[in-house]
Amino acid sequence: MKIHEYQAKELLRKYGVVTPRGIPCFSVDEAVKAAEELGGPIWVVKAQIHAGGRGKGGGVKLAKSLDEVKAVANDILGMQLITHQTGPEGQKVRRLLVEEGADIQHEYYVAALTDRATQKIAMMASSEGGMDIEEVAANTPEKIIKVFVDPLVGLTDAQATELAKGIGIPDGSMAQAIDAFKKLYTCYMETDASLAEINPLIHEGNGNIKALDAKFNFDSNALYRHPEIVEYRDLDEEDADEIEASKYDLAYISLDGNIGCLVNGAGLAMATMDTIKLFGAEPANFLDVGGGATTEKVTEAFKIMLKNPKVKGILVNIFGGIMRCDTIATGVVAAAKEVNLSVPLVVRMKGTNEDIGKKILAESGLPIISADSMAEAATKVVEAVK
Ligand code: GDP
Ligand code: MN
Repeated sequence: MKIHEYQAKELLRKYGVVTPRGIPCFSVDEAVKAAEELGGPIWVVKAQIHAGGRGKGGGVKLAKSLDEVKAVANDILGMQLITHQTGPEGQKVRRLLVEEGADIQHEYYVAALTDRATQKIAMMASSEGGMDIEEVAANTPEKIIKVFVDPLVGLTDAQATELAKGIGIPDGSMAQAIDAFKKLYTCYMETDASLAEINPLIHEGNGNIKALDAKFNFDSNALYRHPEIVEYRDLDEEDADEIEASKYDLAYISLDGNIGCLVNGAGLAMATMDTIKLFGAEPANFLDVGGGATTEKVTEAFKIMLKNPKVKGILVNIFGGIMRCDTIATGVVAAAKEVNLSVPLVVRMKGTNEDIGKKILAESGLPIISADSMAEAATKVVEAVK
């Protein structure tokens, strides 16, 4: 789950990381009032959407008077903000953050993330803040300093110092930077984040270290432990189909292709998408119905896939383990009848009660195309949508 910048900063402040003072706003009037309350002489008005790159897209603007605050708030609020992370259609701006302007001397980058390869927490920092870290990684990888933190030990003073020295924090700001890194690490751990990123982290003319922008991703499997973070959820920022799917406990991700996939198990779902690509087509979604799929769940899954006008065919790929093939077959038949299935449907089933499942499909009277192997299933569905 993602959250807005102003919420991320609220979290960071809870852990003692210094941020500029700011007030979230939902209207131009509120933005002007917020600016008055913060006091001048300079403010920054920032679009709040769940995507980065807002600065380049025109979603972060400086204002030097209350009239300017009003003008830029008016420009940004309601705009369709396009950044490299939103896709070409952009994202509508419904919230703003008005902050006191910062006296930026240098912009740094720092983040905590889960590193699966070392099974540790990677703390990453760079002297090249304020820009795309992906670009820094591609062009000047030597400018990224990484330390790997043992979760049982935590970020040590030595590691925090290595990061701060490595990115060229001036001596006078060293203690504050080390403190900020340690607090960021604690915040990351205690909130069950999978990413906690400050970009830019700045030092000001007076030497103060501040988080000027912040971004978090949270492990959704851990959200049950954090009702205060769930409160931050903004459904306006999420894909409508993914929200619908989450109500039925379906793991669903929208993609750009035209073949809908309904699979049990995340690994098999990934393999199914790969196979579709291998045979020259693109999947329209990732969908894992899980191990305990009921007829109702399968029906909802079909409905969600078919709402996507790009879907021209569906591939159901089921491994019957704990979940028996006949249960899935009954679900598929019921769902196909209920939604008046209008696109070709290819079903591949393997495992427990496979024969009974196949019989149910064959006797359903529905034009279901049956397949035995992954390759055969992919070939048939790709052929069917041509
Ligand atoms: P992003 O583009 O979505 O990552 O949004 P950021 O919050 O990182 O803002 C982009 C850039 O705007 C930053 O890298 C800064 O250079 C600039 N910026 C943000 N806040 C201020 C501020 O208070 N004063 C000044 N001068 N620039 C700012
Ligand atoms: Mn940023």
